[in-house]
Order: sequence, then structure tokens, then C-alpha cells
Amino acid sequence: MSSLDAFVKDLAAGRIQVVDLTQPLGPDTPVIALPEPFTASPGVTIETLSRYDDGGPAWYWNSLHLGEHTGTHFDAPVHWITGKDQPQNRCDTIPAERFVGPACVIDVSADVKDDADFLLTPERILNWEGEHGRIPAGAWVLLRTDWSKRTDPSDFLNVDETGPHSPGFRKDASELLVERDILGVGVETIGTDAGQAGTFYPPFPNHTIMHGAGKFGLASLTNLDRLPPTGALVVAAPLKIVDGSGSPLRVLAFVER
Ligand code: MN
Repeated sequence: MSSLDAFVKDLAAGRIQVVDLTQPLGPDTPVIALPEPFTASPGVTIETLSRYDDGGPAWYWNSLHLGEHTGTHFDAPVHWITGKDQPQNRCDTIPAERFVGPACVIDVSADVKDDADFLLTPERILNWEGEHGRIPAGAWVLLRTDWSKRTDPSDFLNVDETGPHSPGFRKDASELLVERDILGVGVETIGTDAGQAGTFYPPFPNHTIMHGAGKFGLASLTNLDRLPPTGALVVAAPLKIVDGSGSPLRVLAFVER
């Protein structure tokens, strides 16, 4: 039996399950707030073109208006200035095989419970590797924070007078992951940098380092608590937007029971 035959059989028998790592996308999807004078991204607007009515008696369809980086979405290297000259750095030019890879799930949810500004460190990555083995090249590294359980948008954005507070990566952690030659990182928060990362040096270090190395980002993931530390296969393929800097997408994980 070929590997794909075995895969199809295991799927049908429920030995492999599909876990949806995607948040619903709609008018209620929270959008990142940027301070003046930066241009904000719009929220999601869905307009009905027709719904079995005069505009289309037998069909229903909508038009969409939204920013590329809305809801569960993909960050291409060209999104950041450090990645602007990387080869194959946009949604339409990234080779499709780079959307598929094994998942390494680093669980820091207990730390984040006590500290919303928690940052992943190289030490934590090395400890994880001591337990689960070295992060392989071509892996998606997913940071489990349980942040997606914050279903109230104001808890999710978690902004106070000092700005947004949410977990992320220390610069040297992002550098170590680039050394491992991963596909990219995935997070449960609205972006792949910590809420306070605008105040870090460099600002937004994970975007700076990852995209500067041609790596990707996945933001606003959910259900990471349903994945094992290793062994899941993740498919995260953005829309093939011409010159696109990112795209909402459906992220699927295949998990052996
Ligand atoms: Mn983004």
C-alpha cells in the first residue's frame, strides 16, 4: 500500500483526525489596533450580492472586504521590510510544498496564565528539545498559550493604558528557530509578536527575524490544545493573492489518534 493509500484509509477509519486550527472569520473578528499615524486595517465586511432573490433567484453569494492580515491568517516574508528582498516571498510565489510541515507544539499556557507578557526564550526551546527531540527543518513551530480561549474581543486584545499585553517571542528565541530552519511560527494571538513588542529592540523582533530569514507566520490559531507536542502534520496554505503580503486561510492539522 502506498503512503497516500494508507493515509486515506486511516482518515476514513478515524485513526487520523483533522483538527481545525482556524477561528471563524466575520464582522466580529477582532482587528489589531495601530497607534497614529499608522494606517489601520479594516475589519471584515460581508455584503450579500444575492440570496435567492431578484439579484439571483437560485443562488446565494457575498462579496468580502477585509485586510490581508485578518483573523486566522498567514504572514508572508514580504510583509516585513526585512523580508522584502527574500526570494519567493509573496503569497503567489511561495512554493506550495512550503505550506505543509510537521508541527512542534511548545506549551507555555501555564506561564501565560501568570504573565500575559510572557516571552518564549531559547532556554525553553532547548528544554522542549530535550524532552521531544530537535525541532526538524521544515517544521511549523506552534506556541500554545491558550490565548484563543479569550473569546471576549477586549480580553483577546488585552489593551490597557500601556498598550496591548499578549505573549510572544524573545528575539534570541526567534533566532534559534531560524537556525533550526523551520517553515515559520504559529501563535494564538492576533500577531506573531508580543503585545508590547513595539517597545522592544528591534521593534517587533519576531517579524524582523522570521521574515528577514524568509520564514512565515500564522496568527490567531485555535485548538492548539488538541495537538500533541510532536506528530501532527499541518497544512497552512494562503490564498494565491498576486503580490500578497498575507492572507486569511484555513489551517488544518492531521493528528494520529
Ligand atoms: Mn499578520
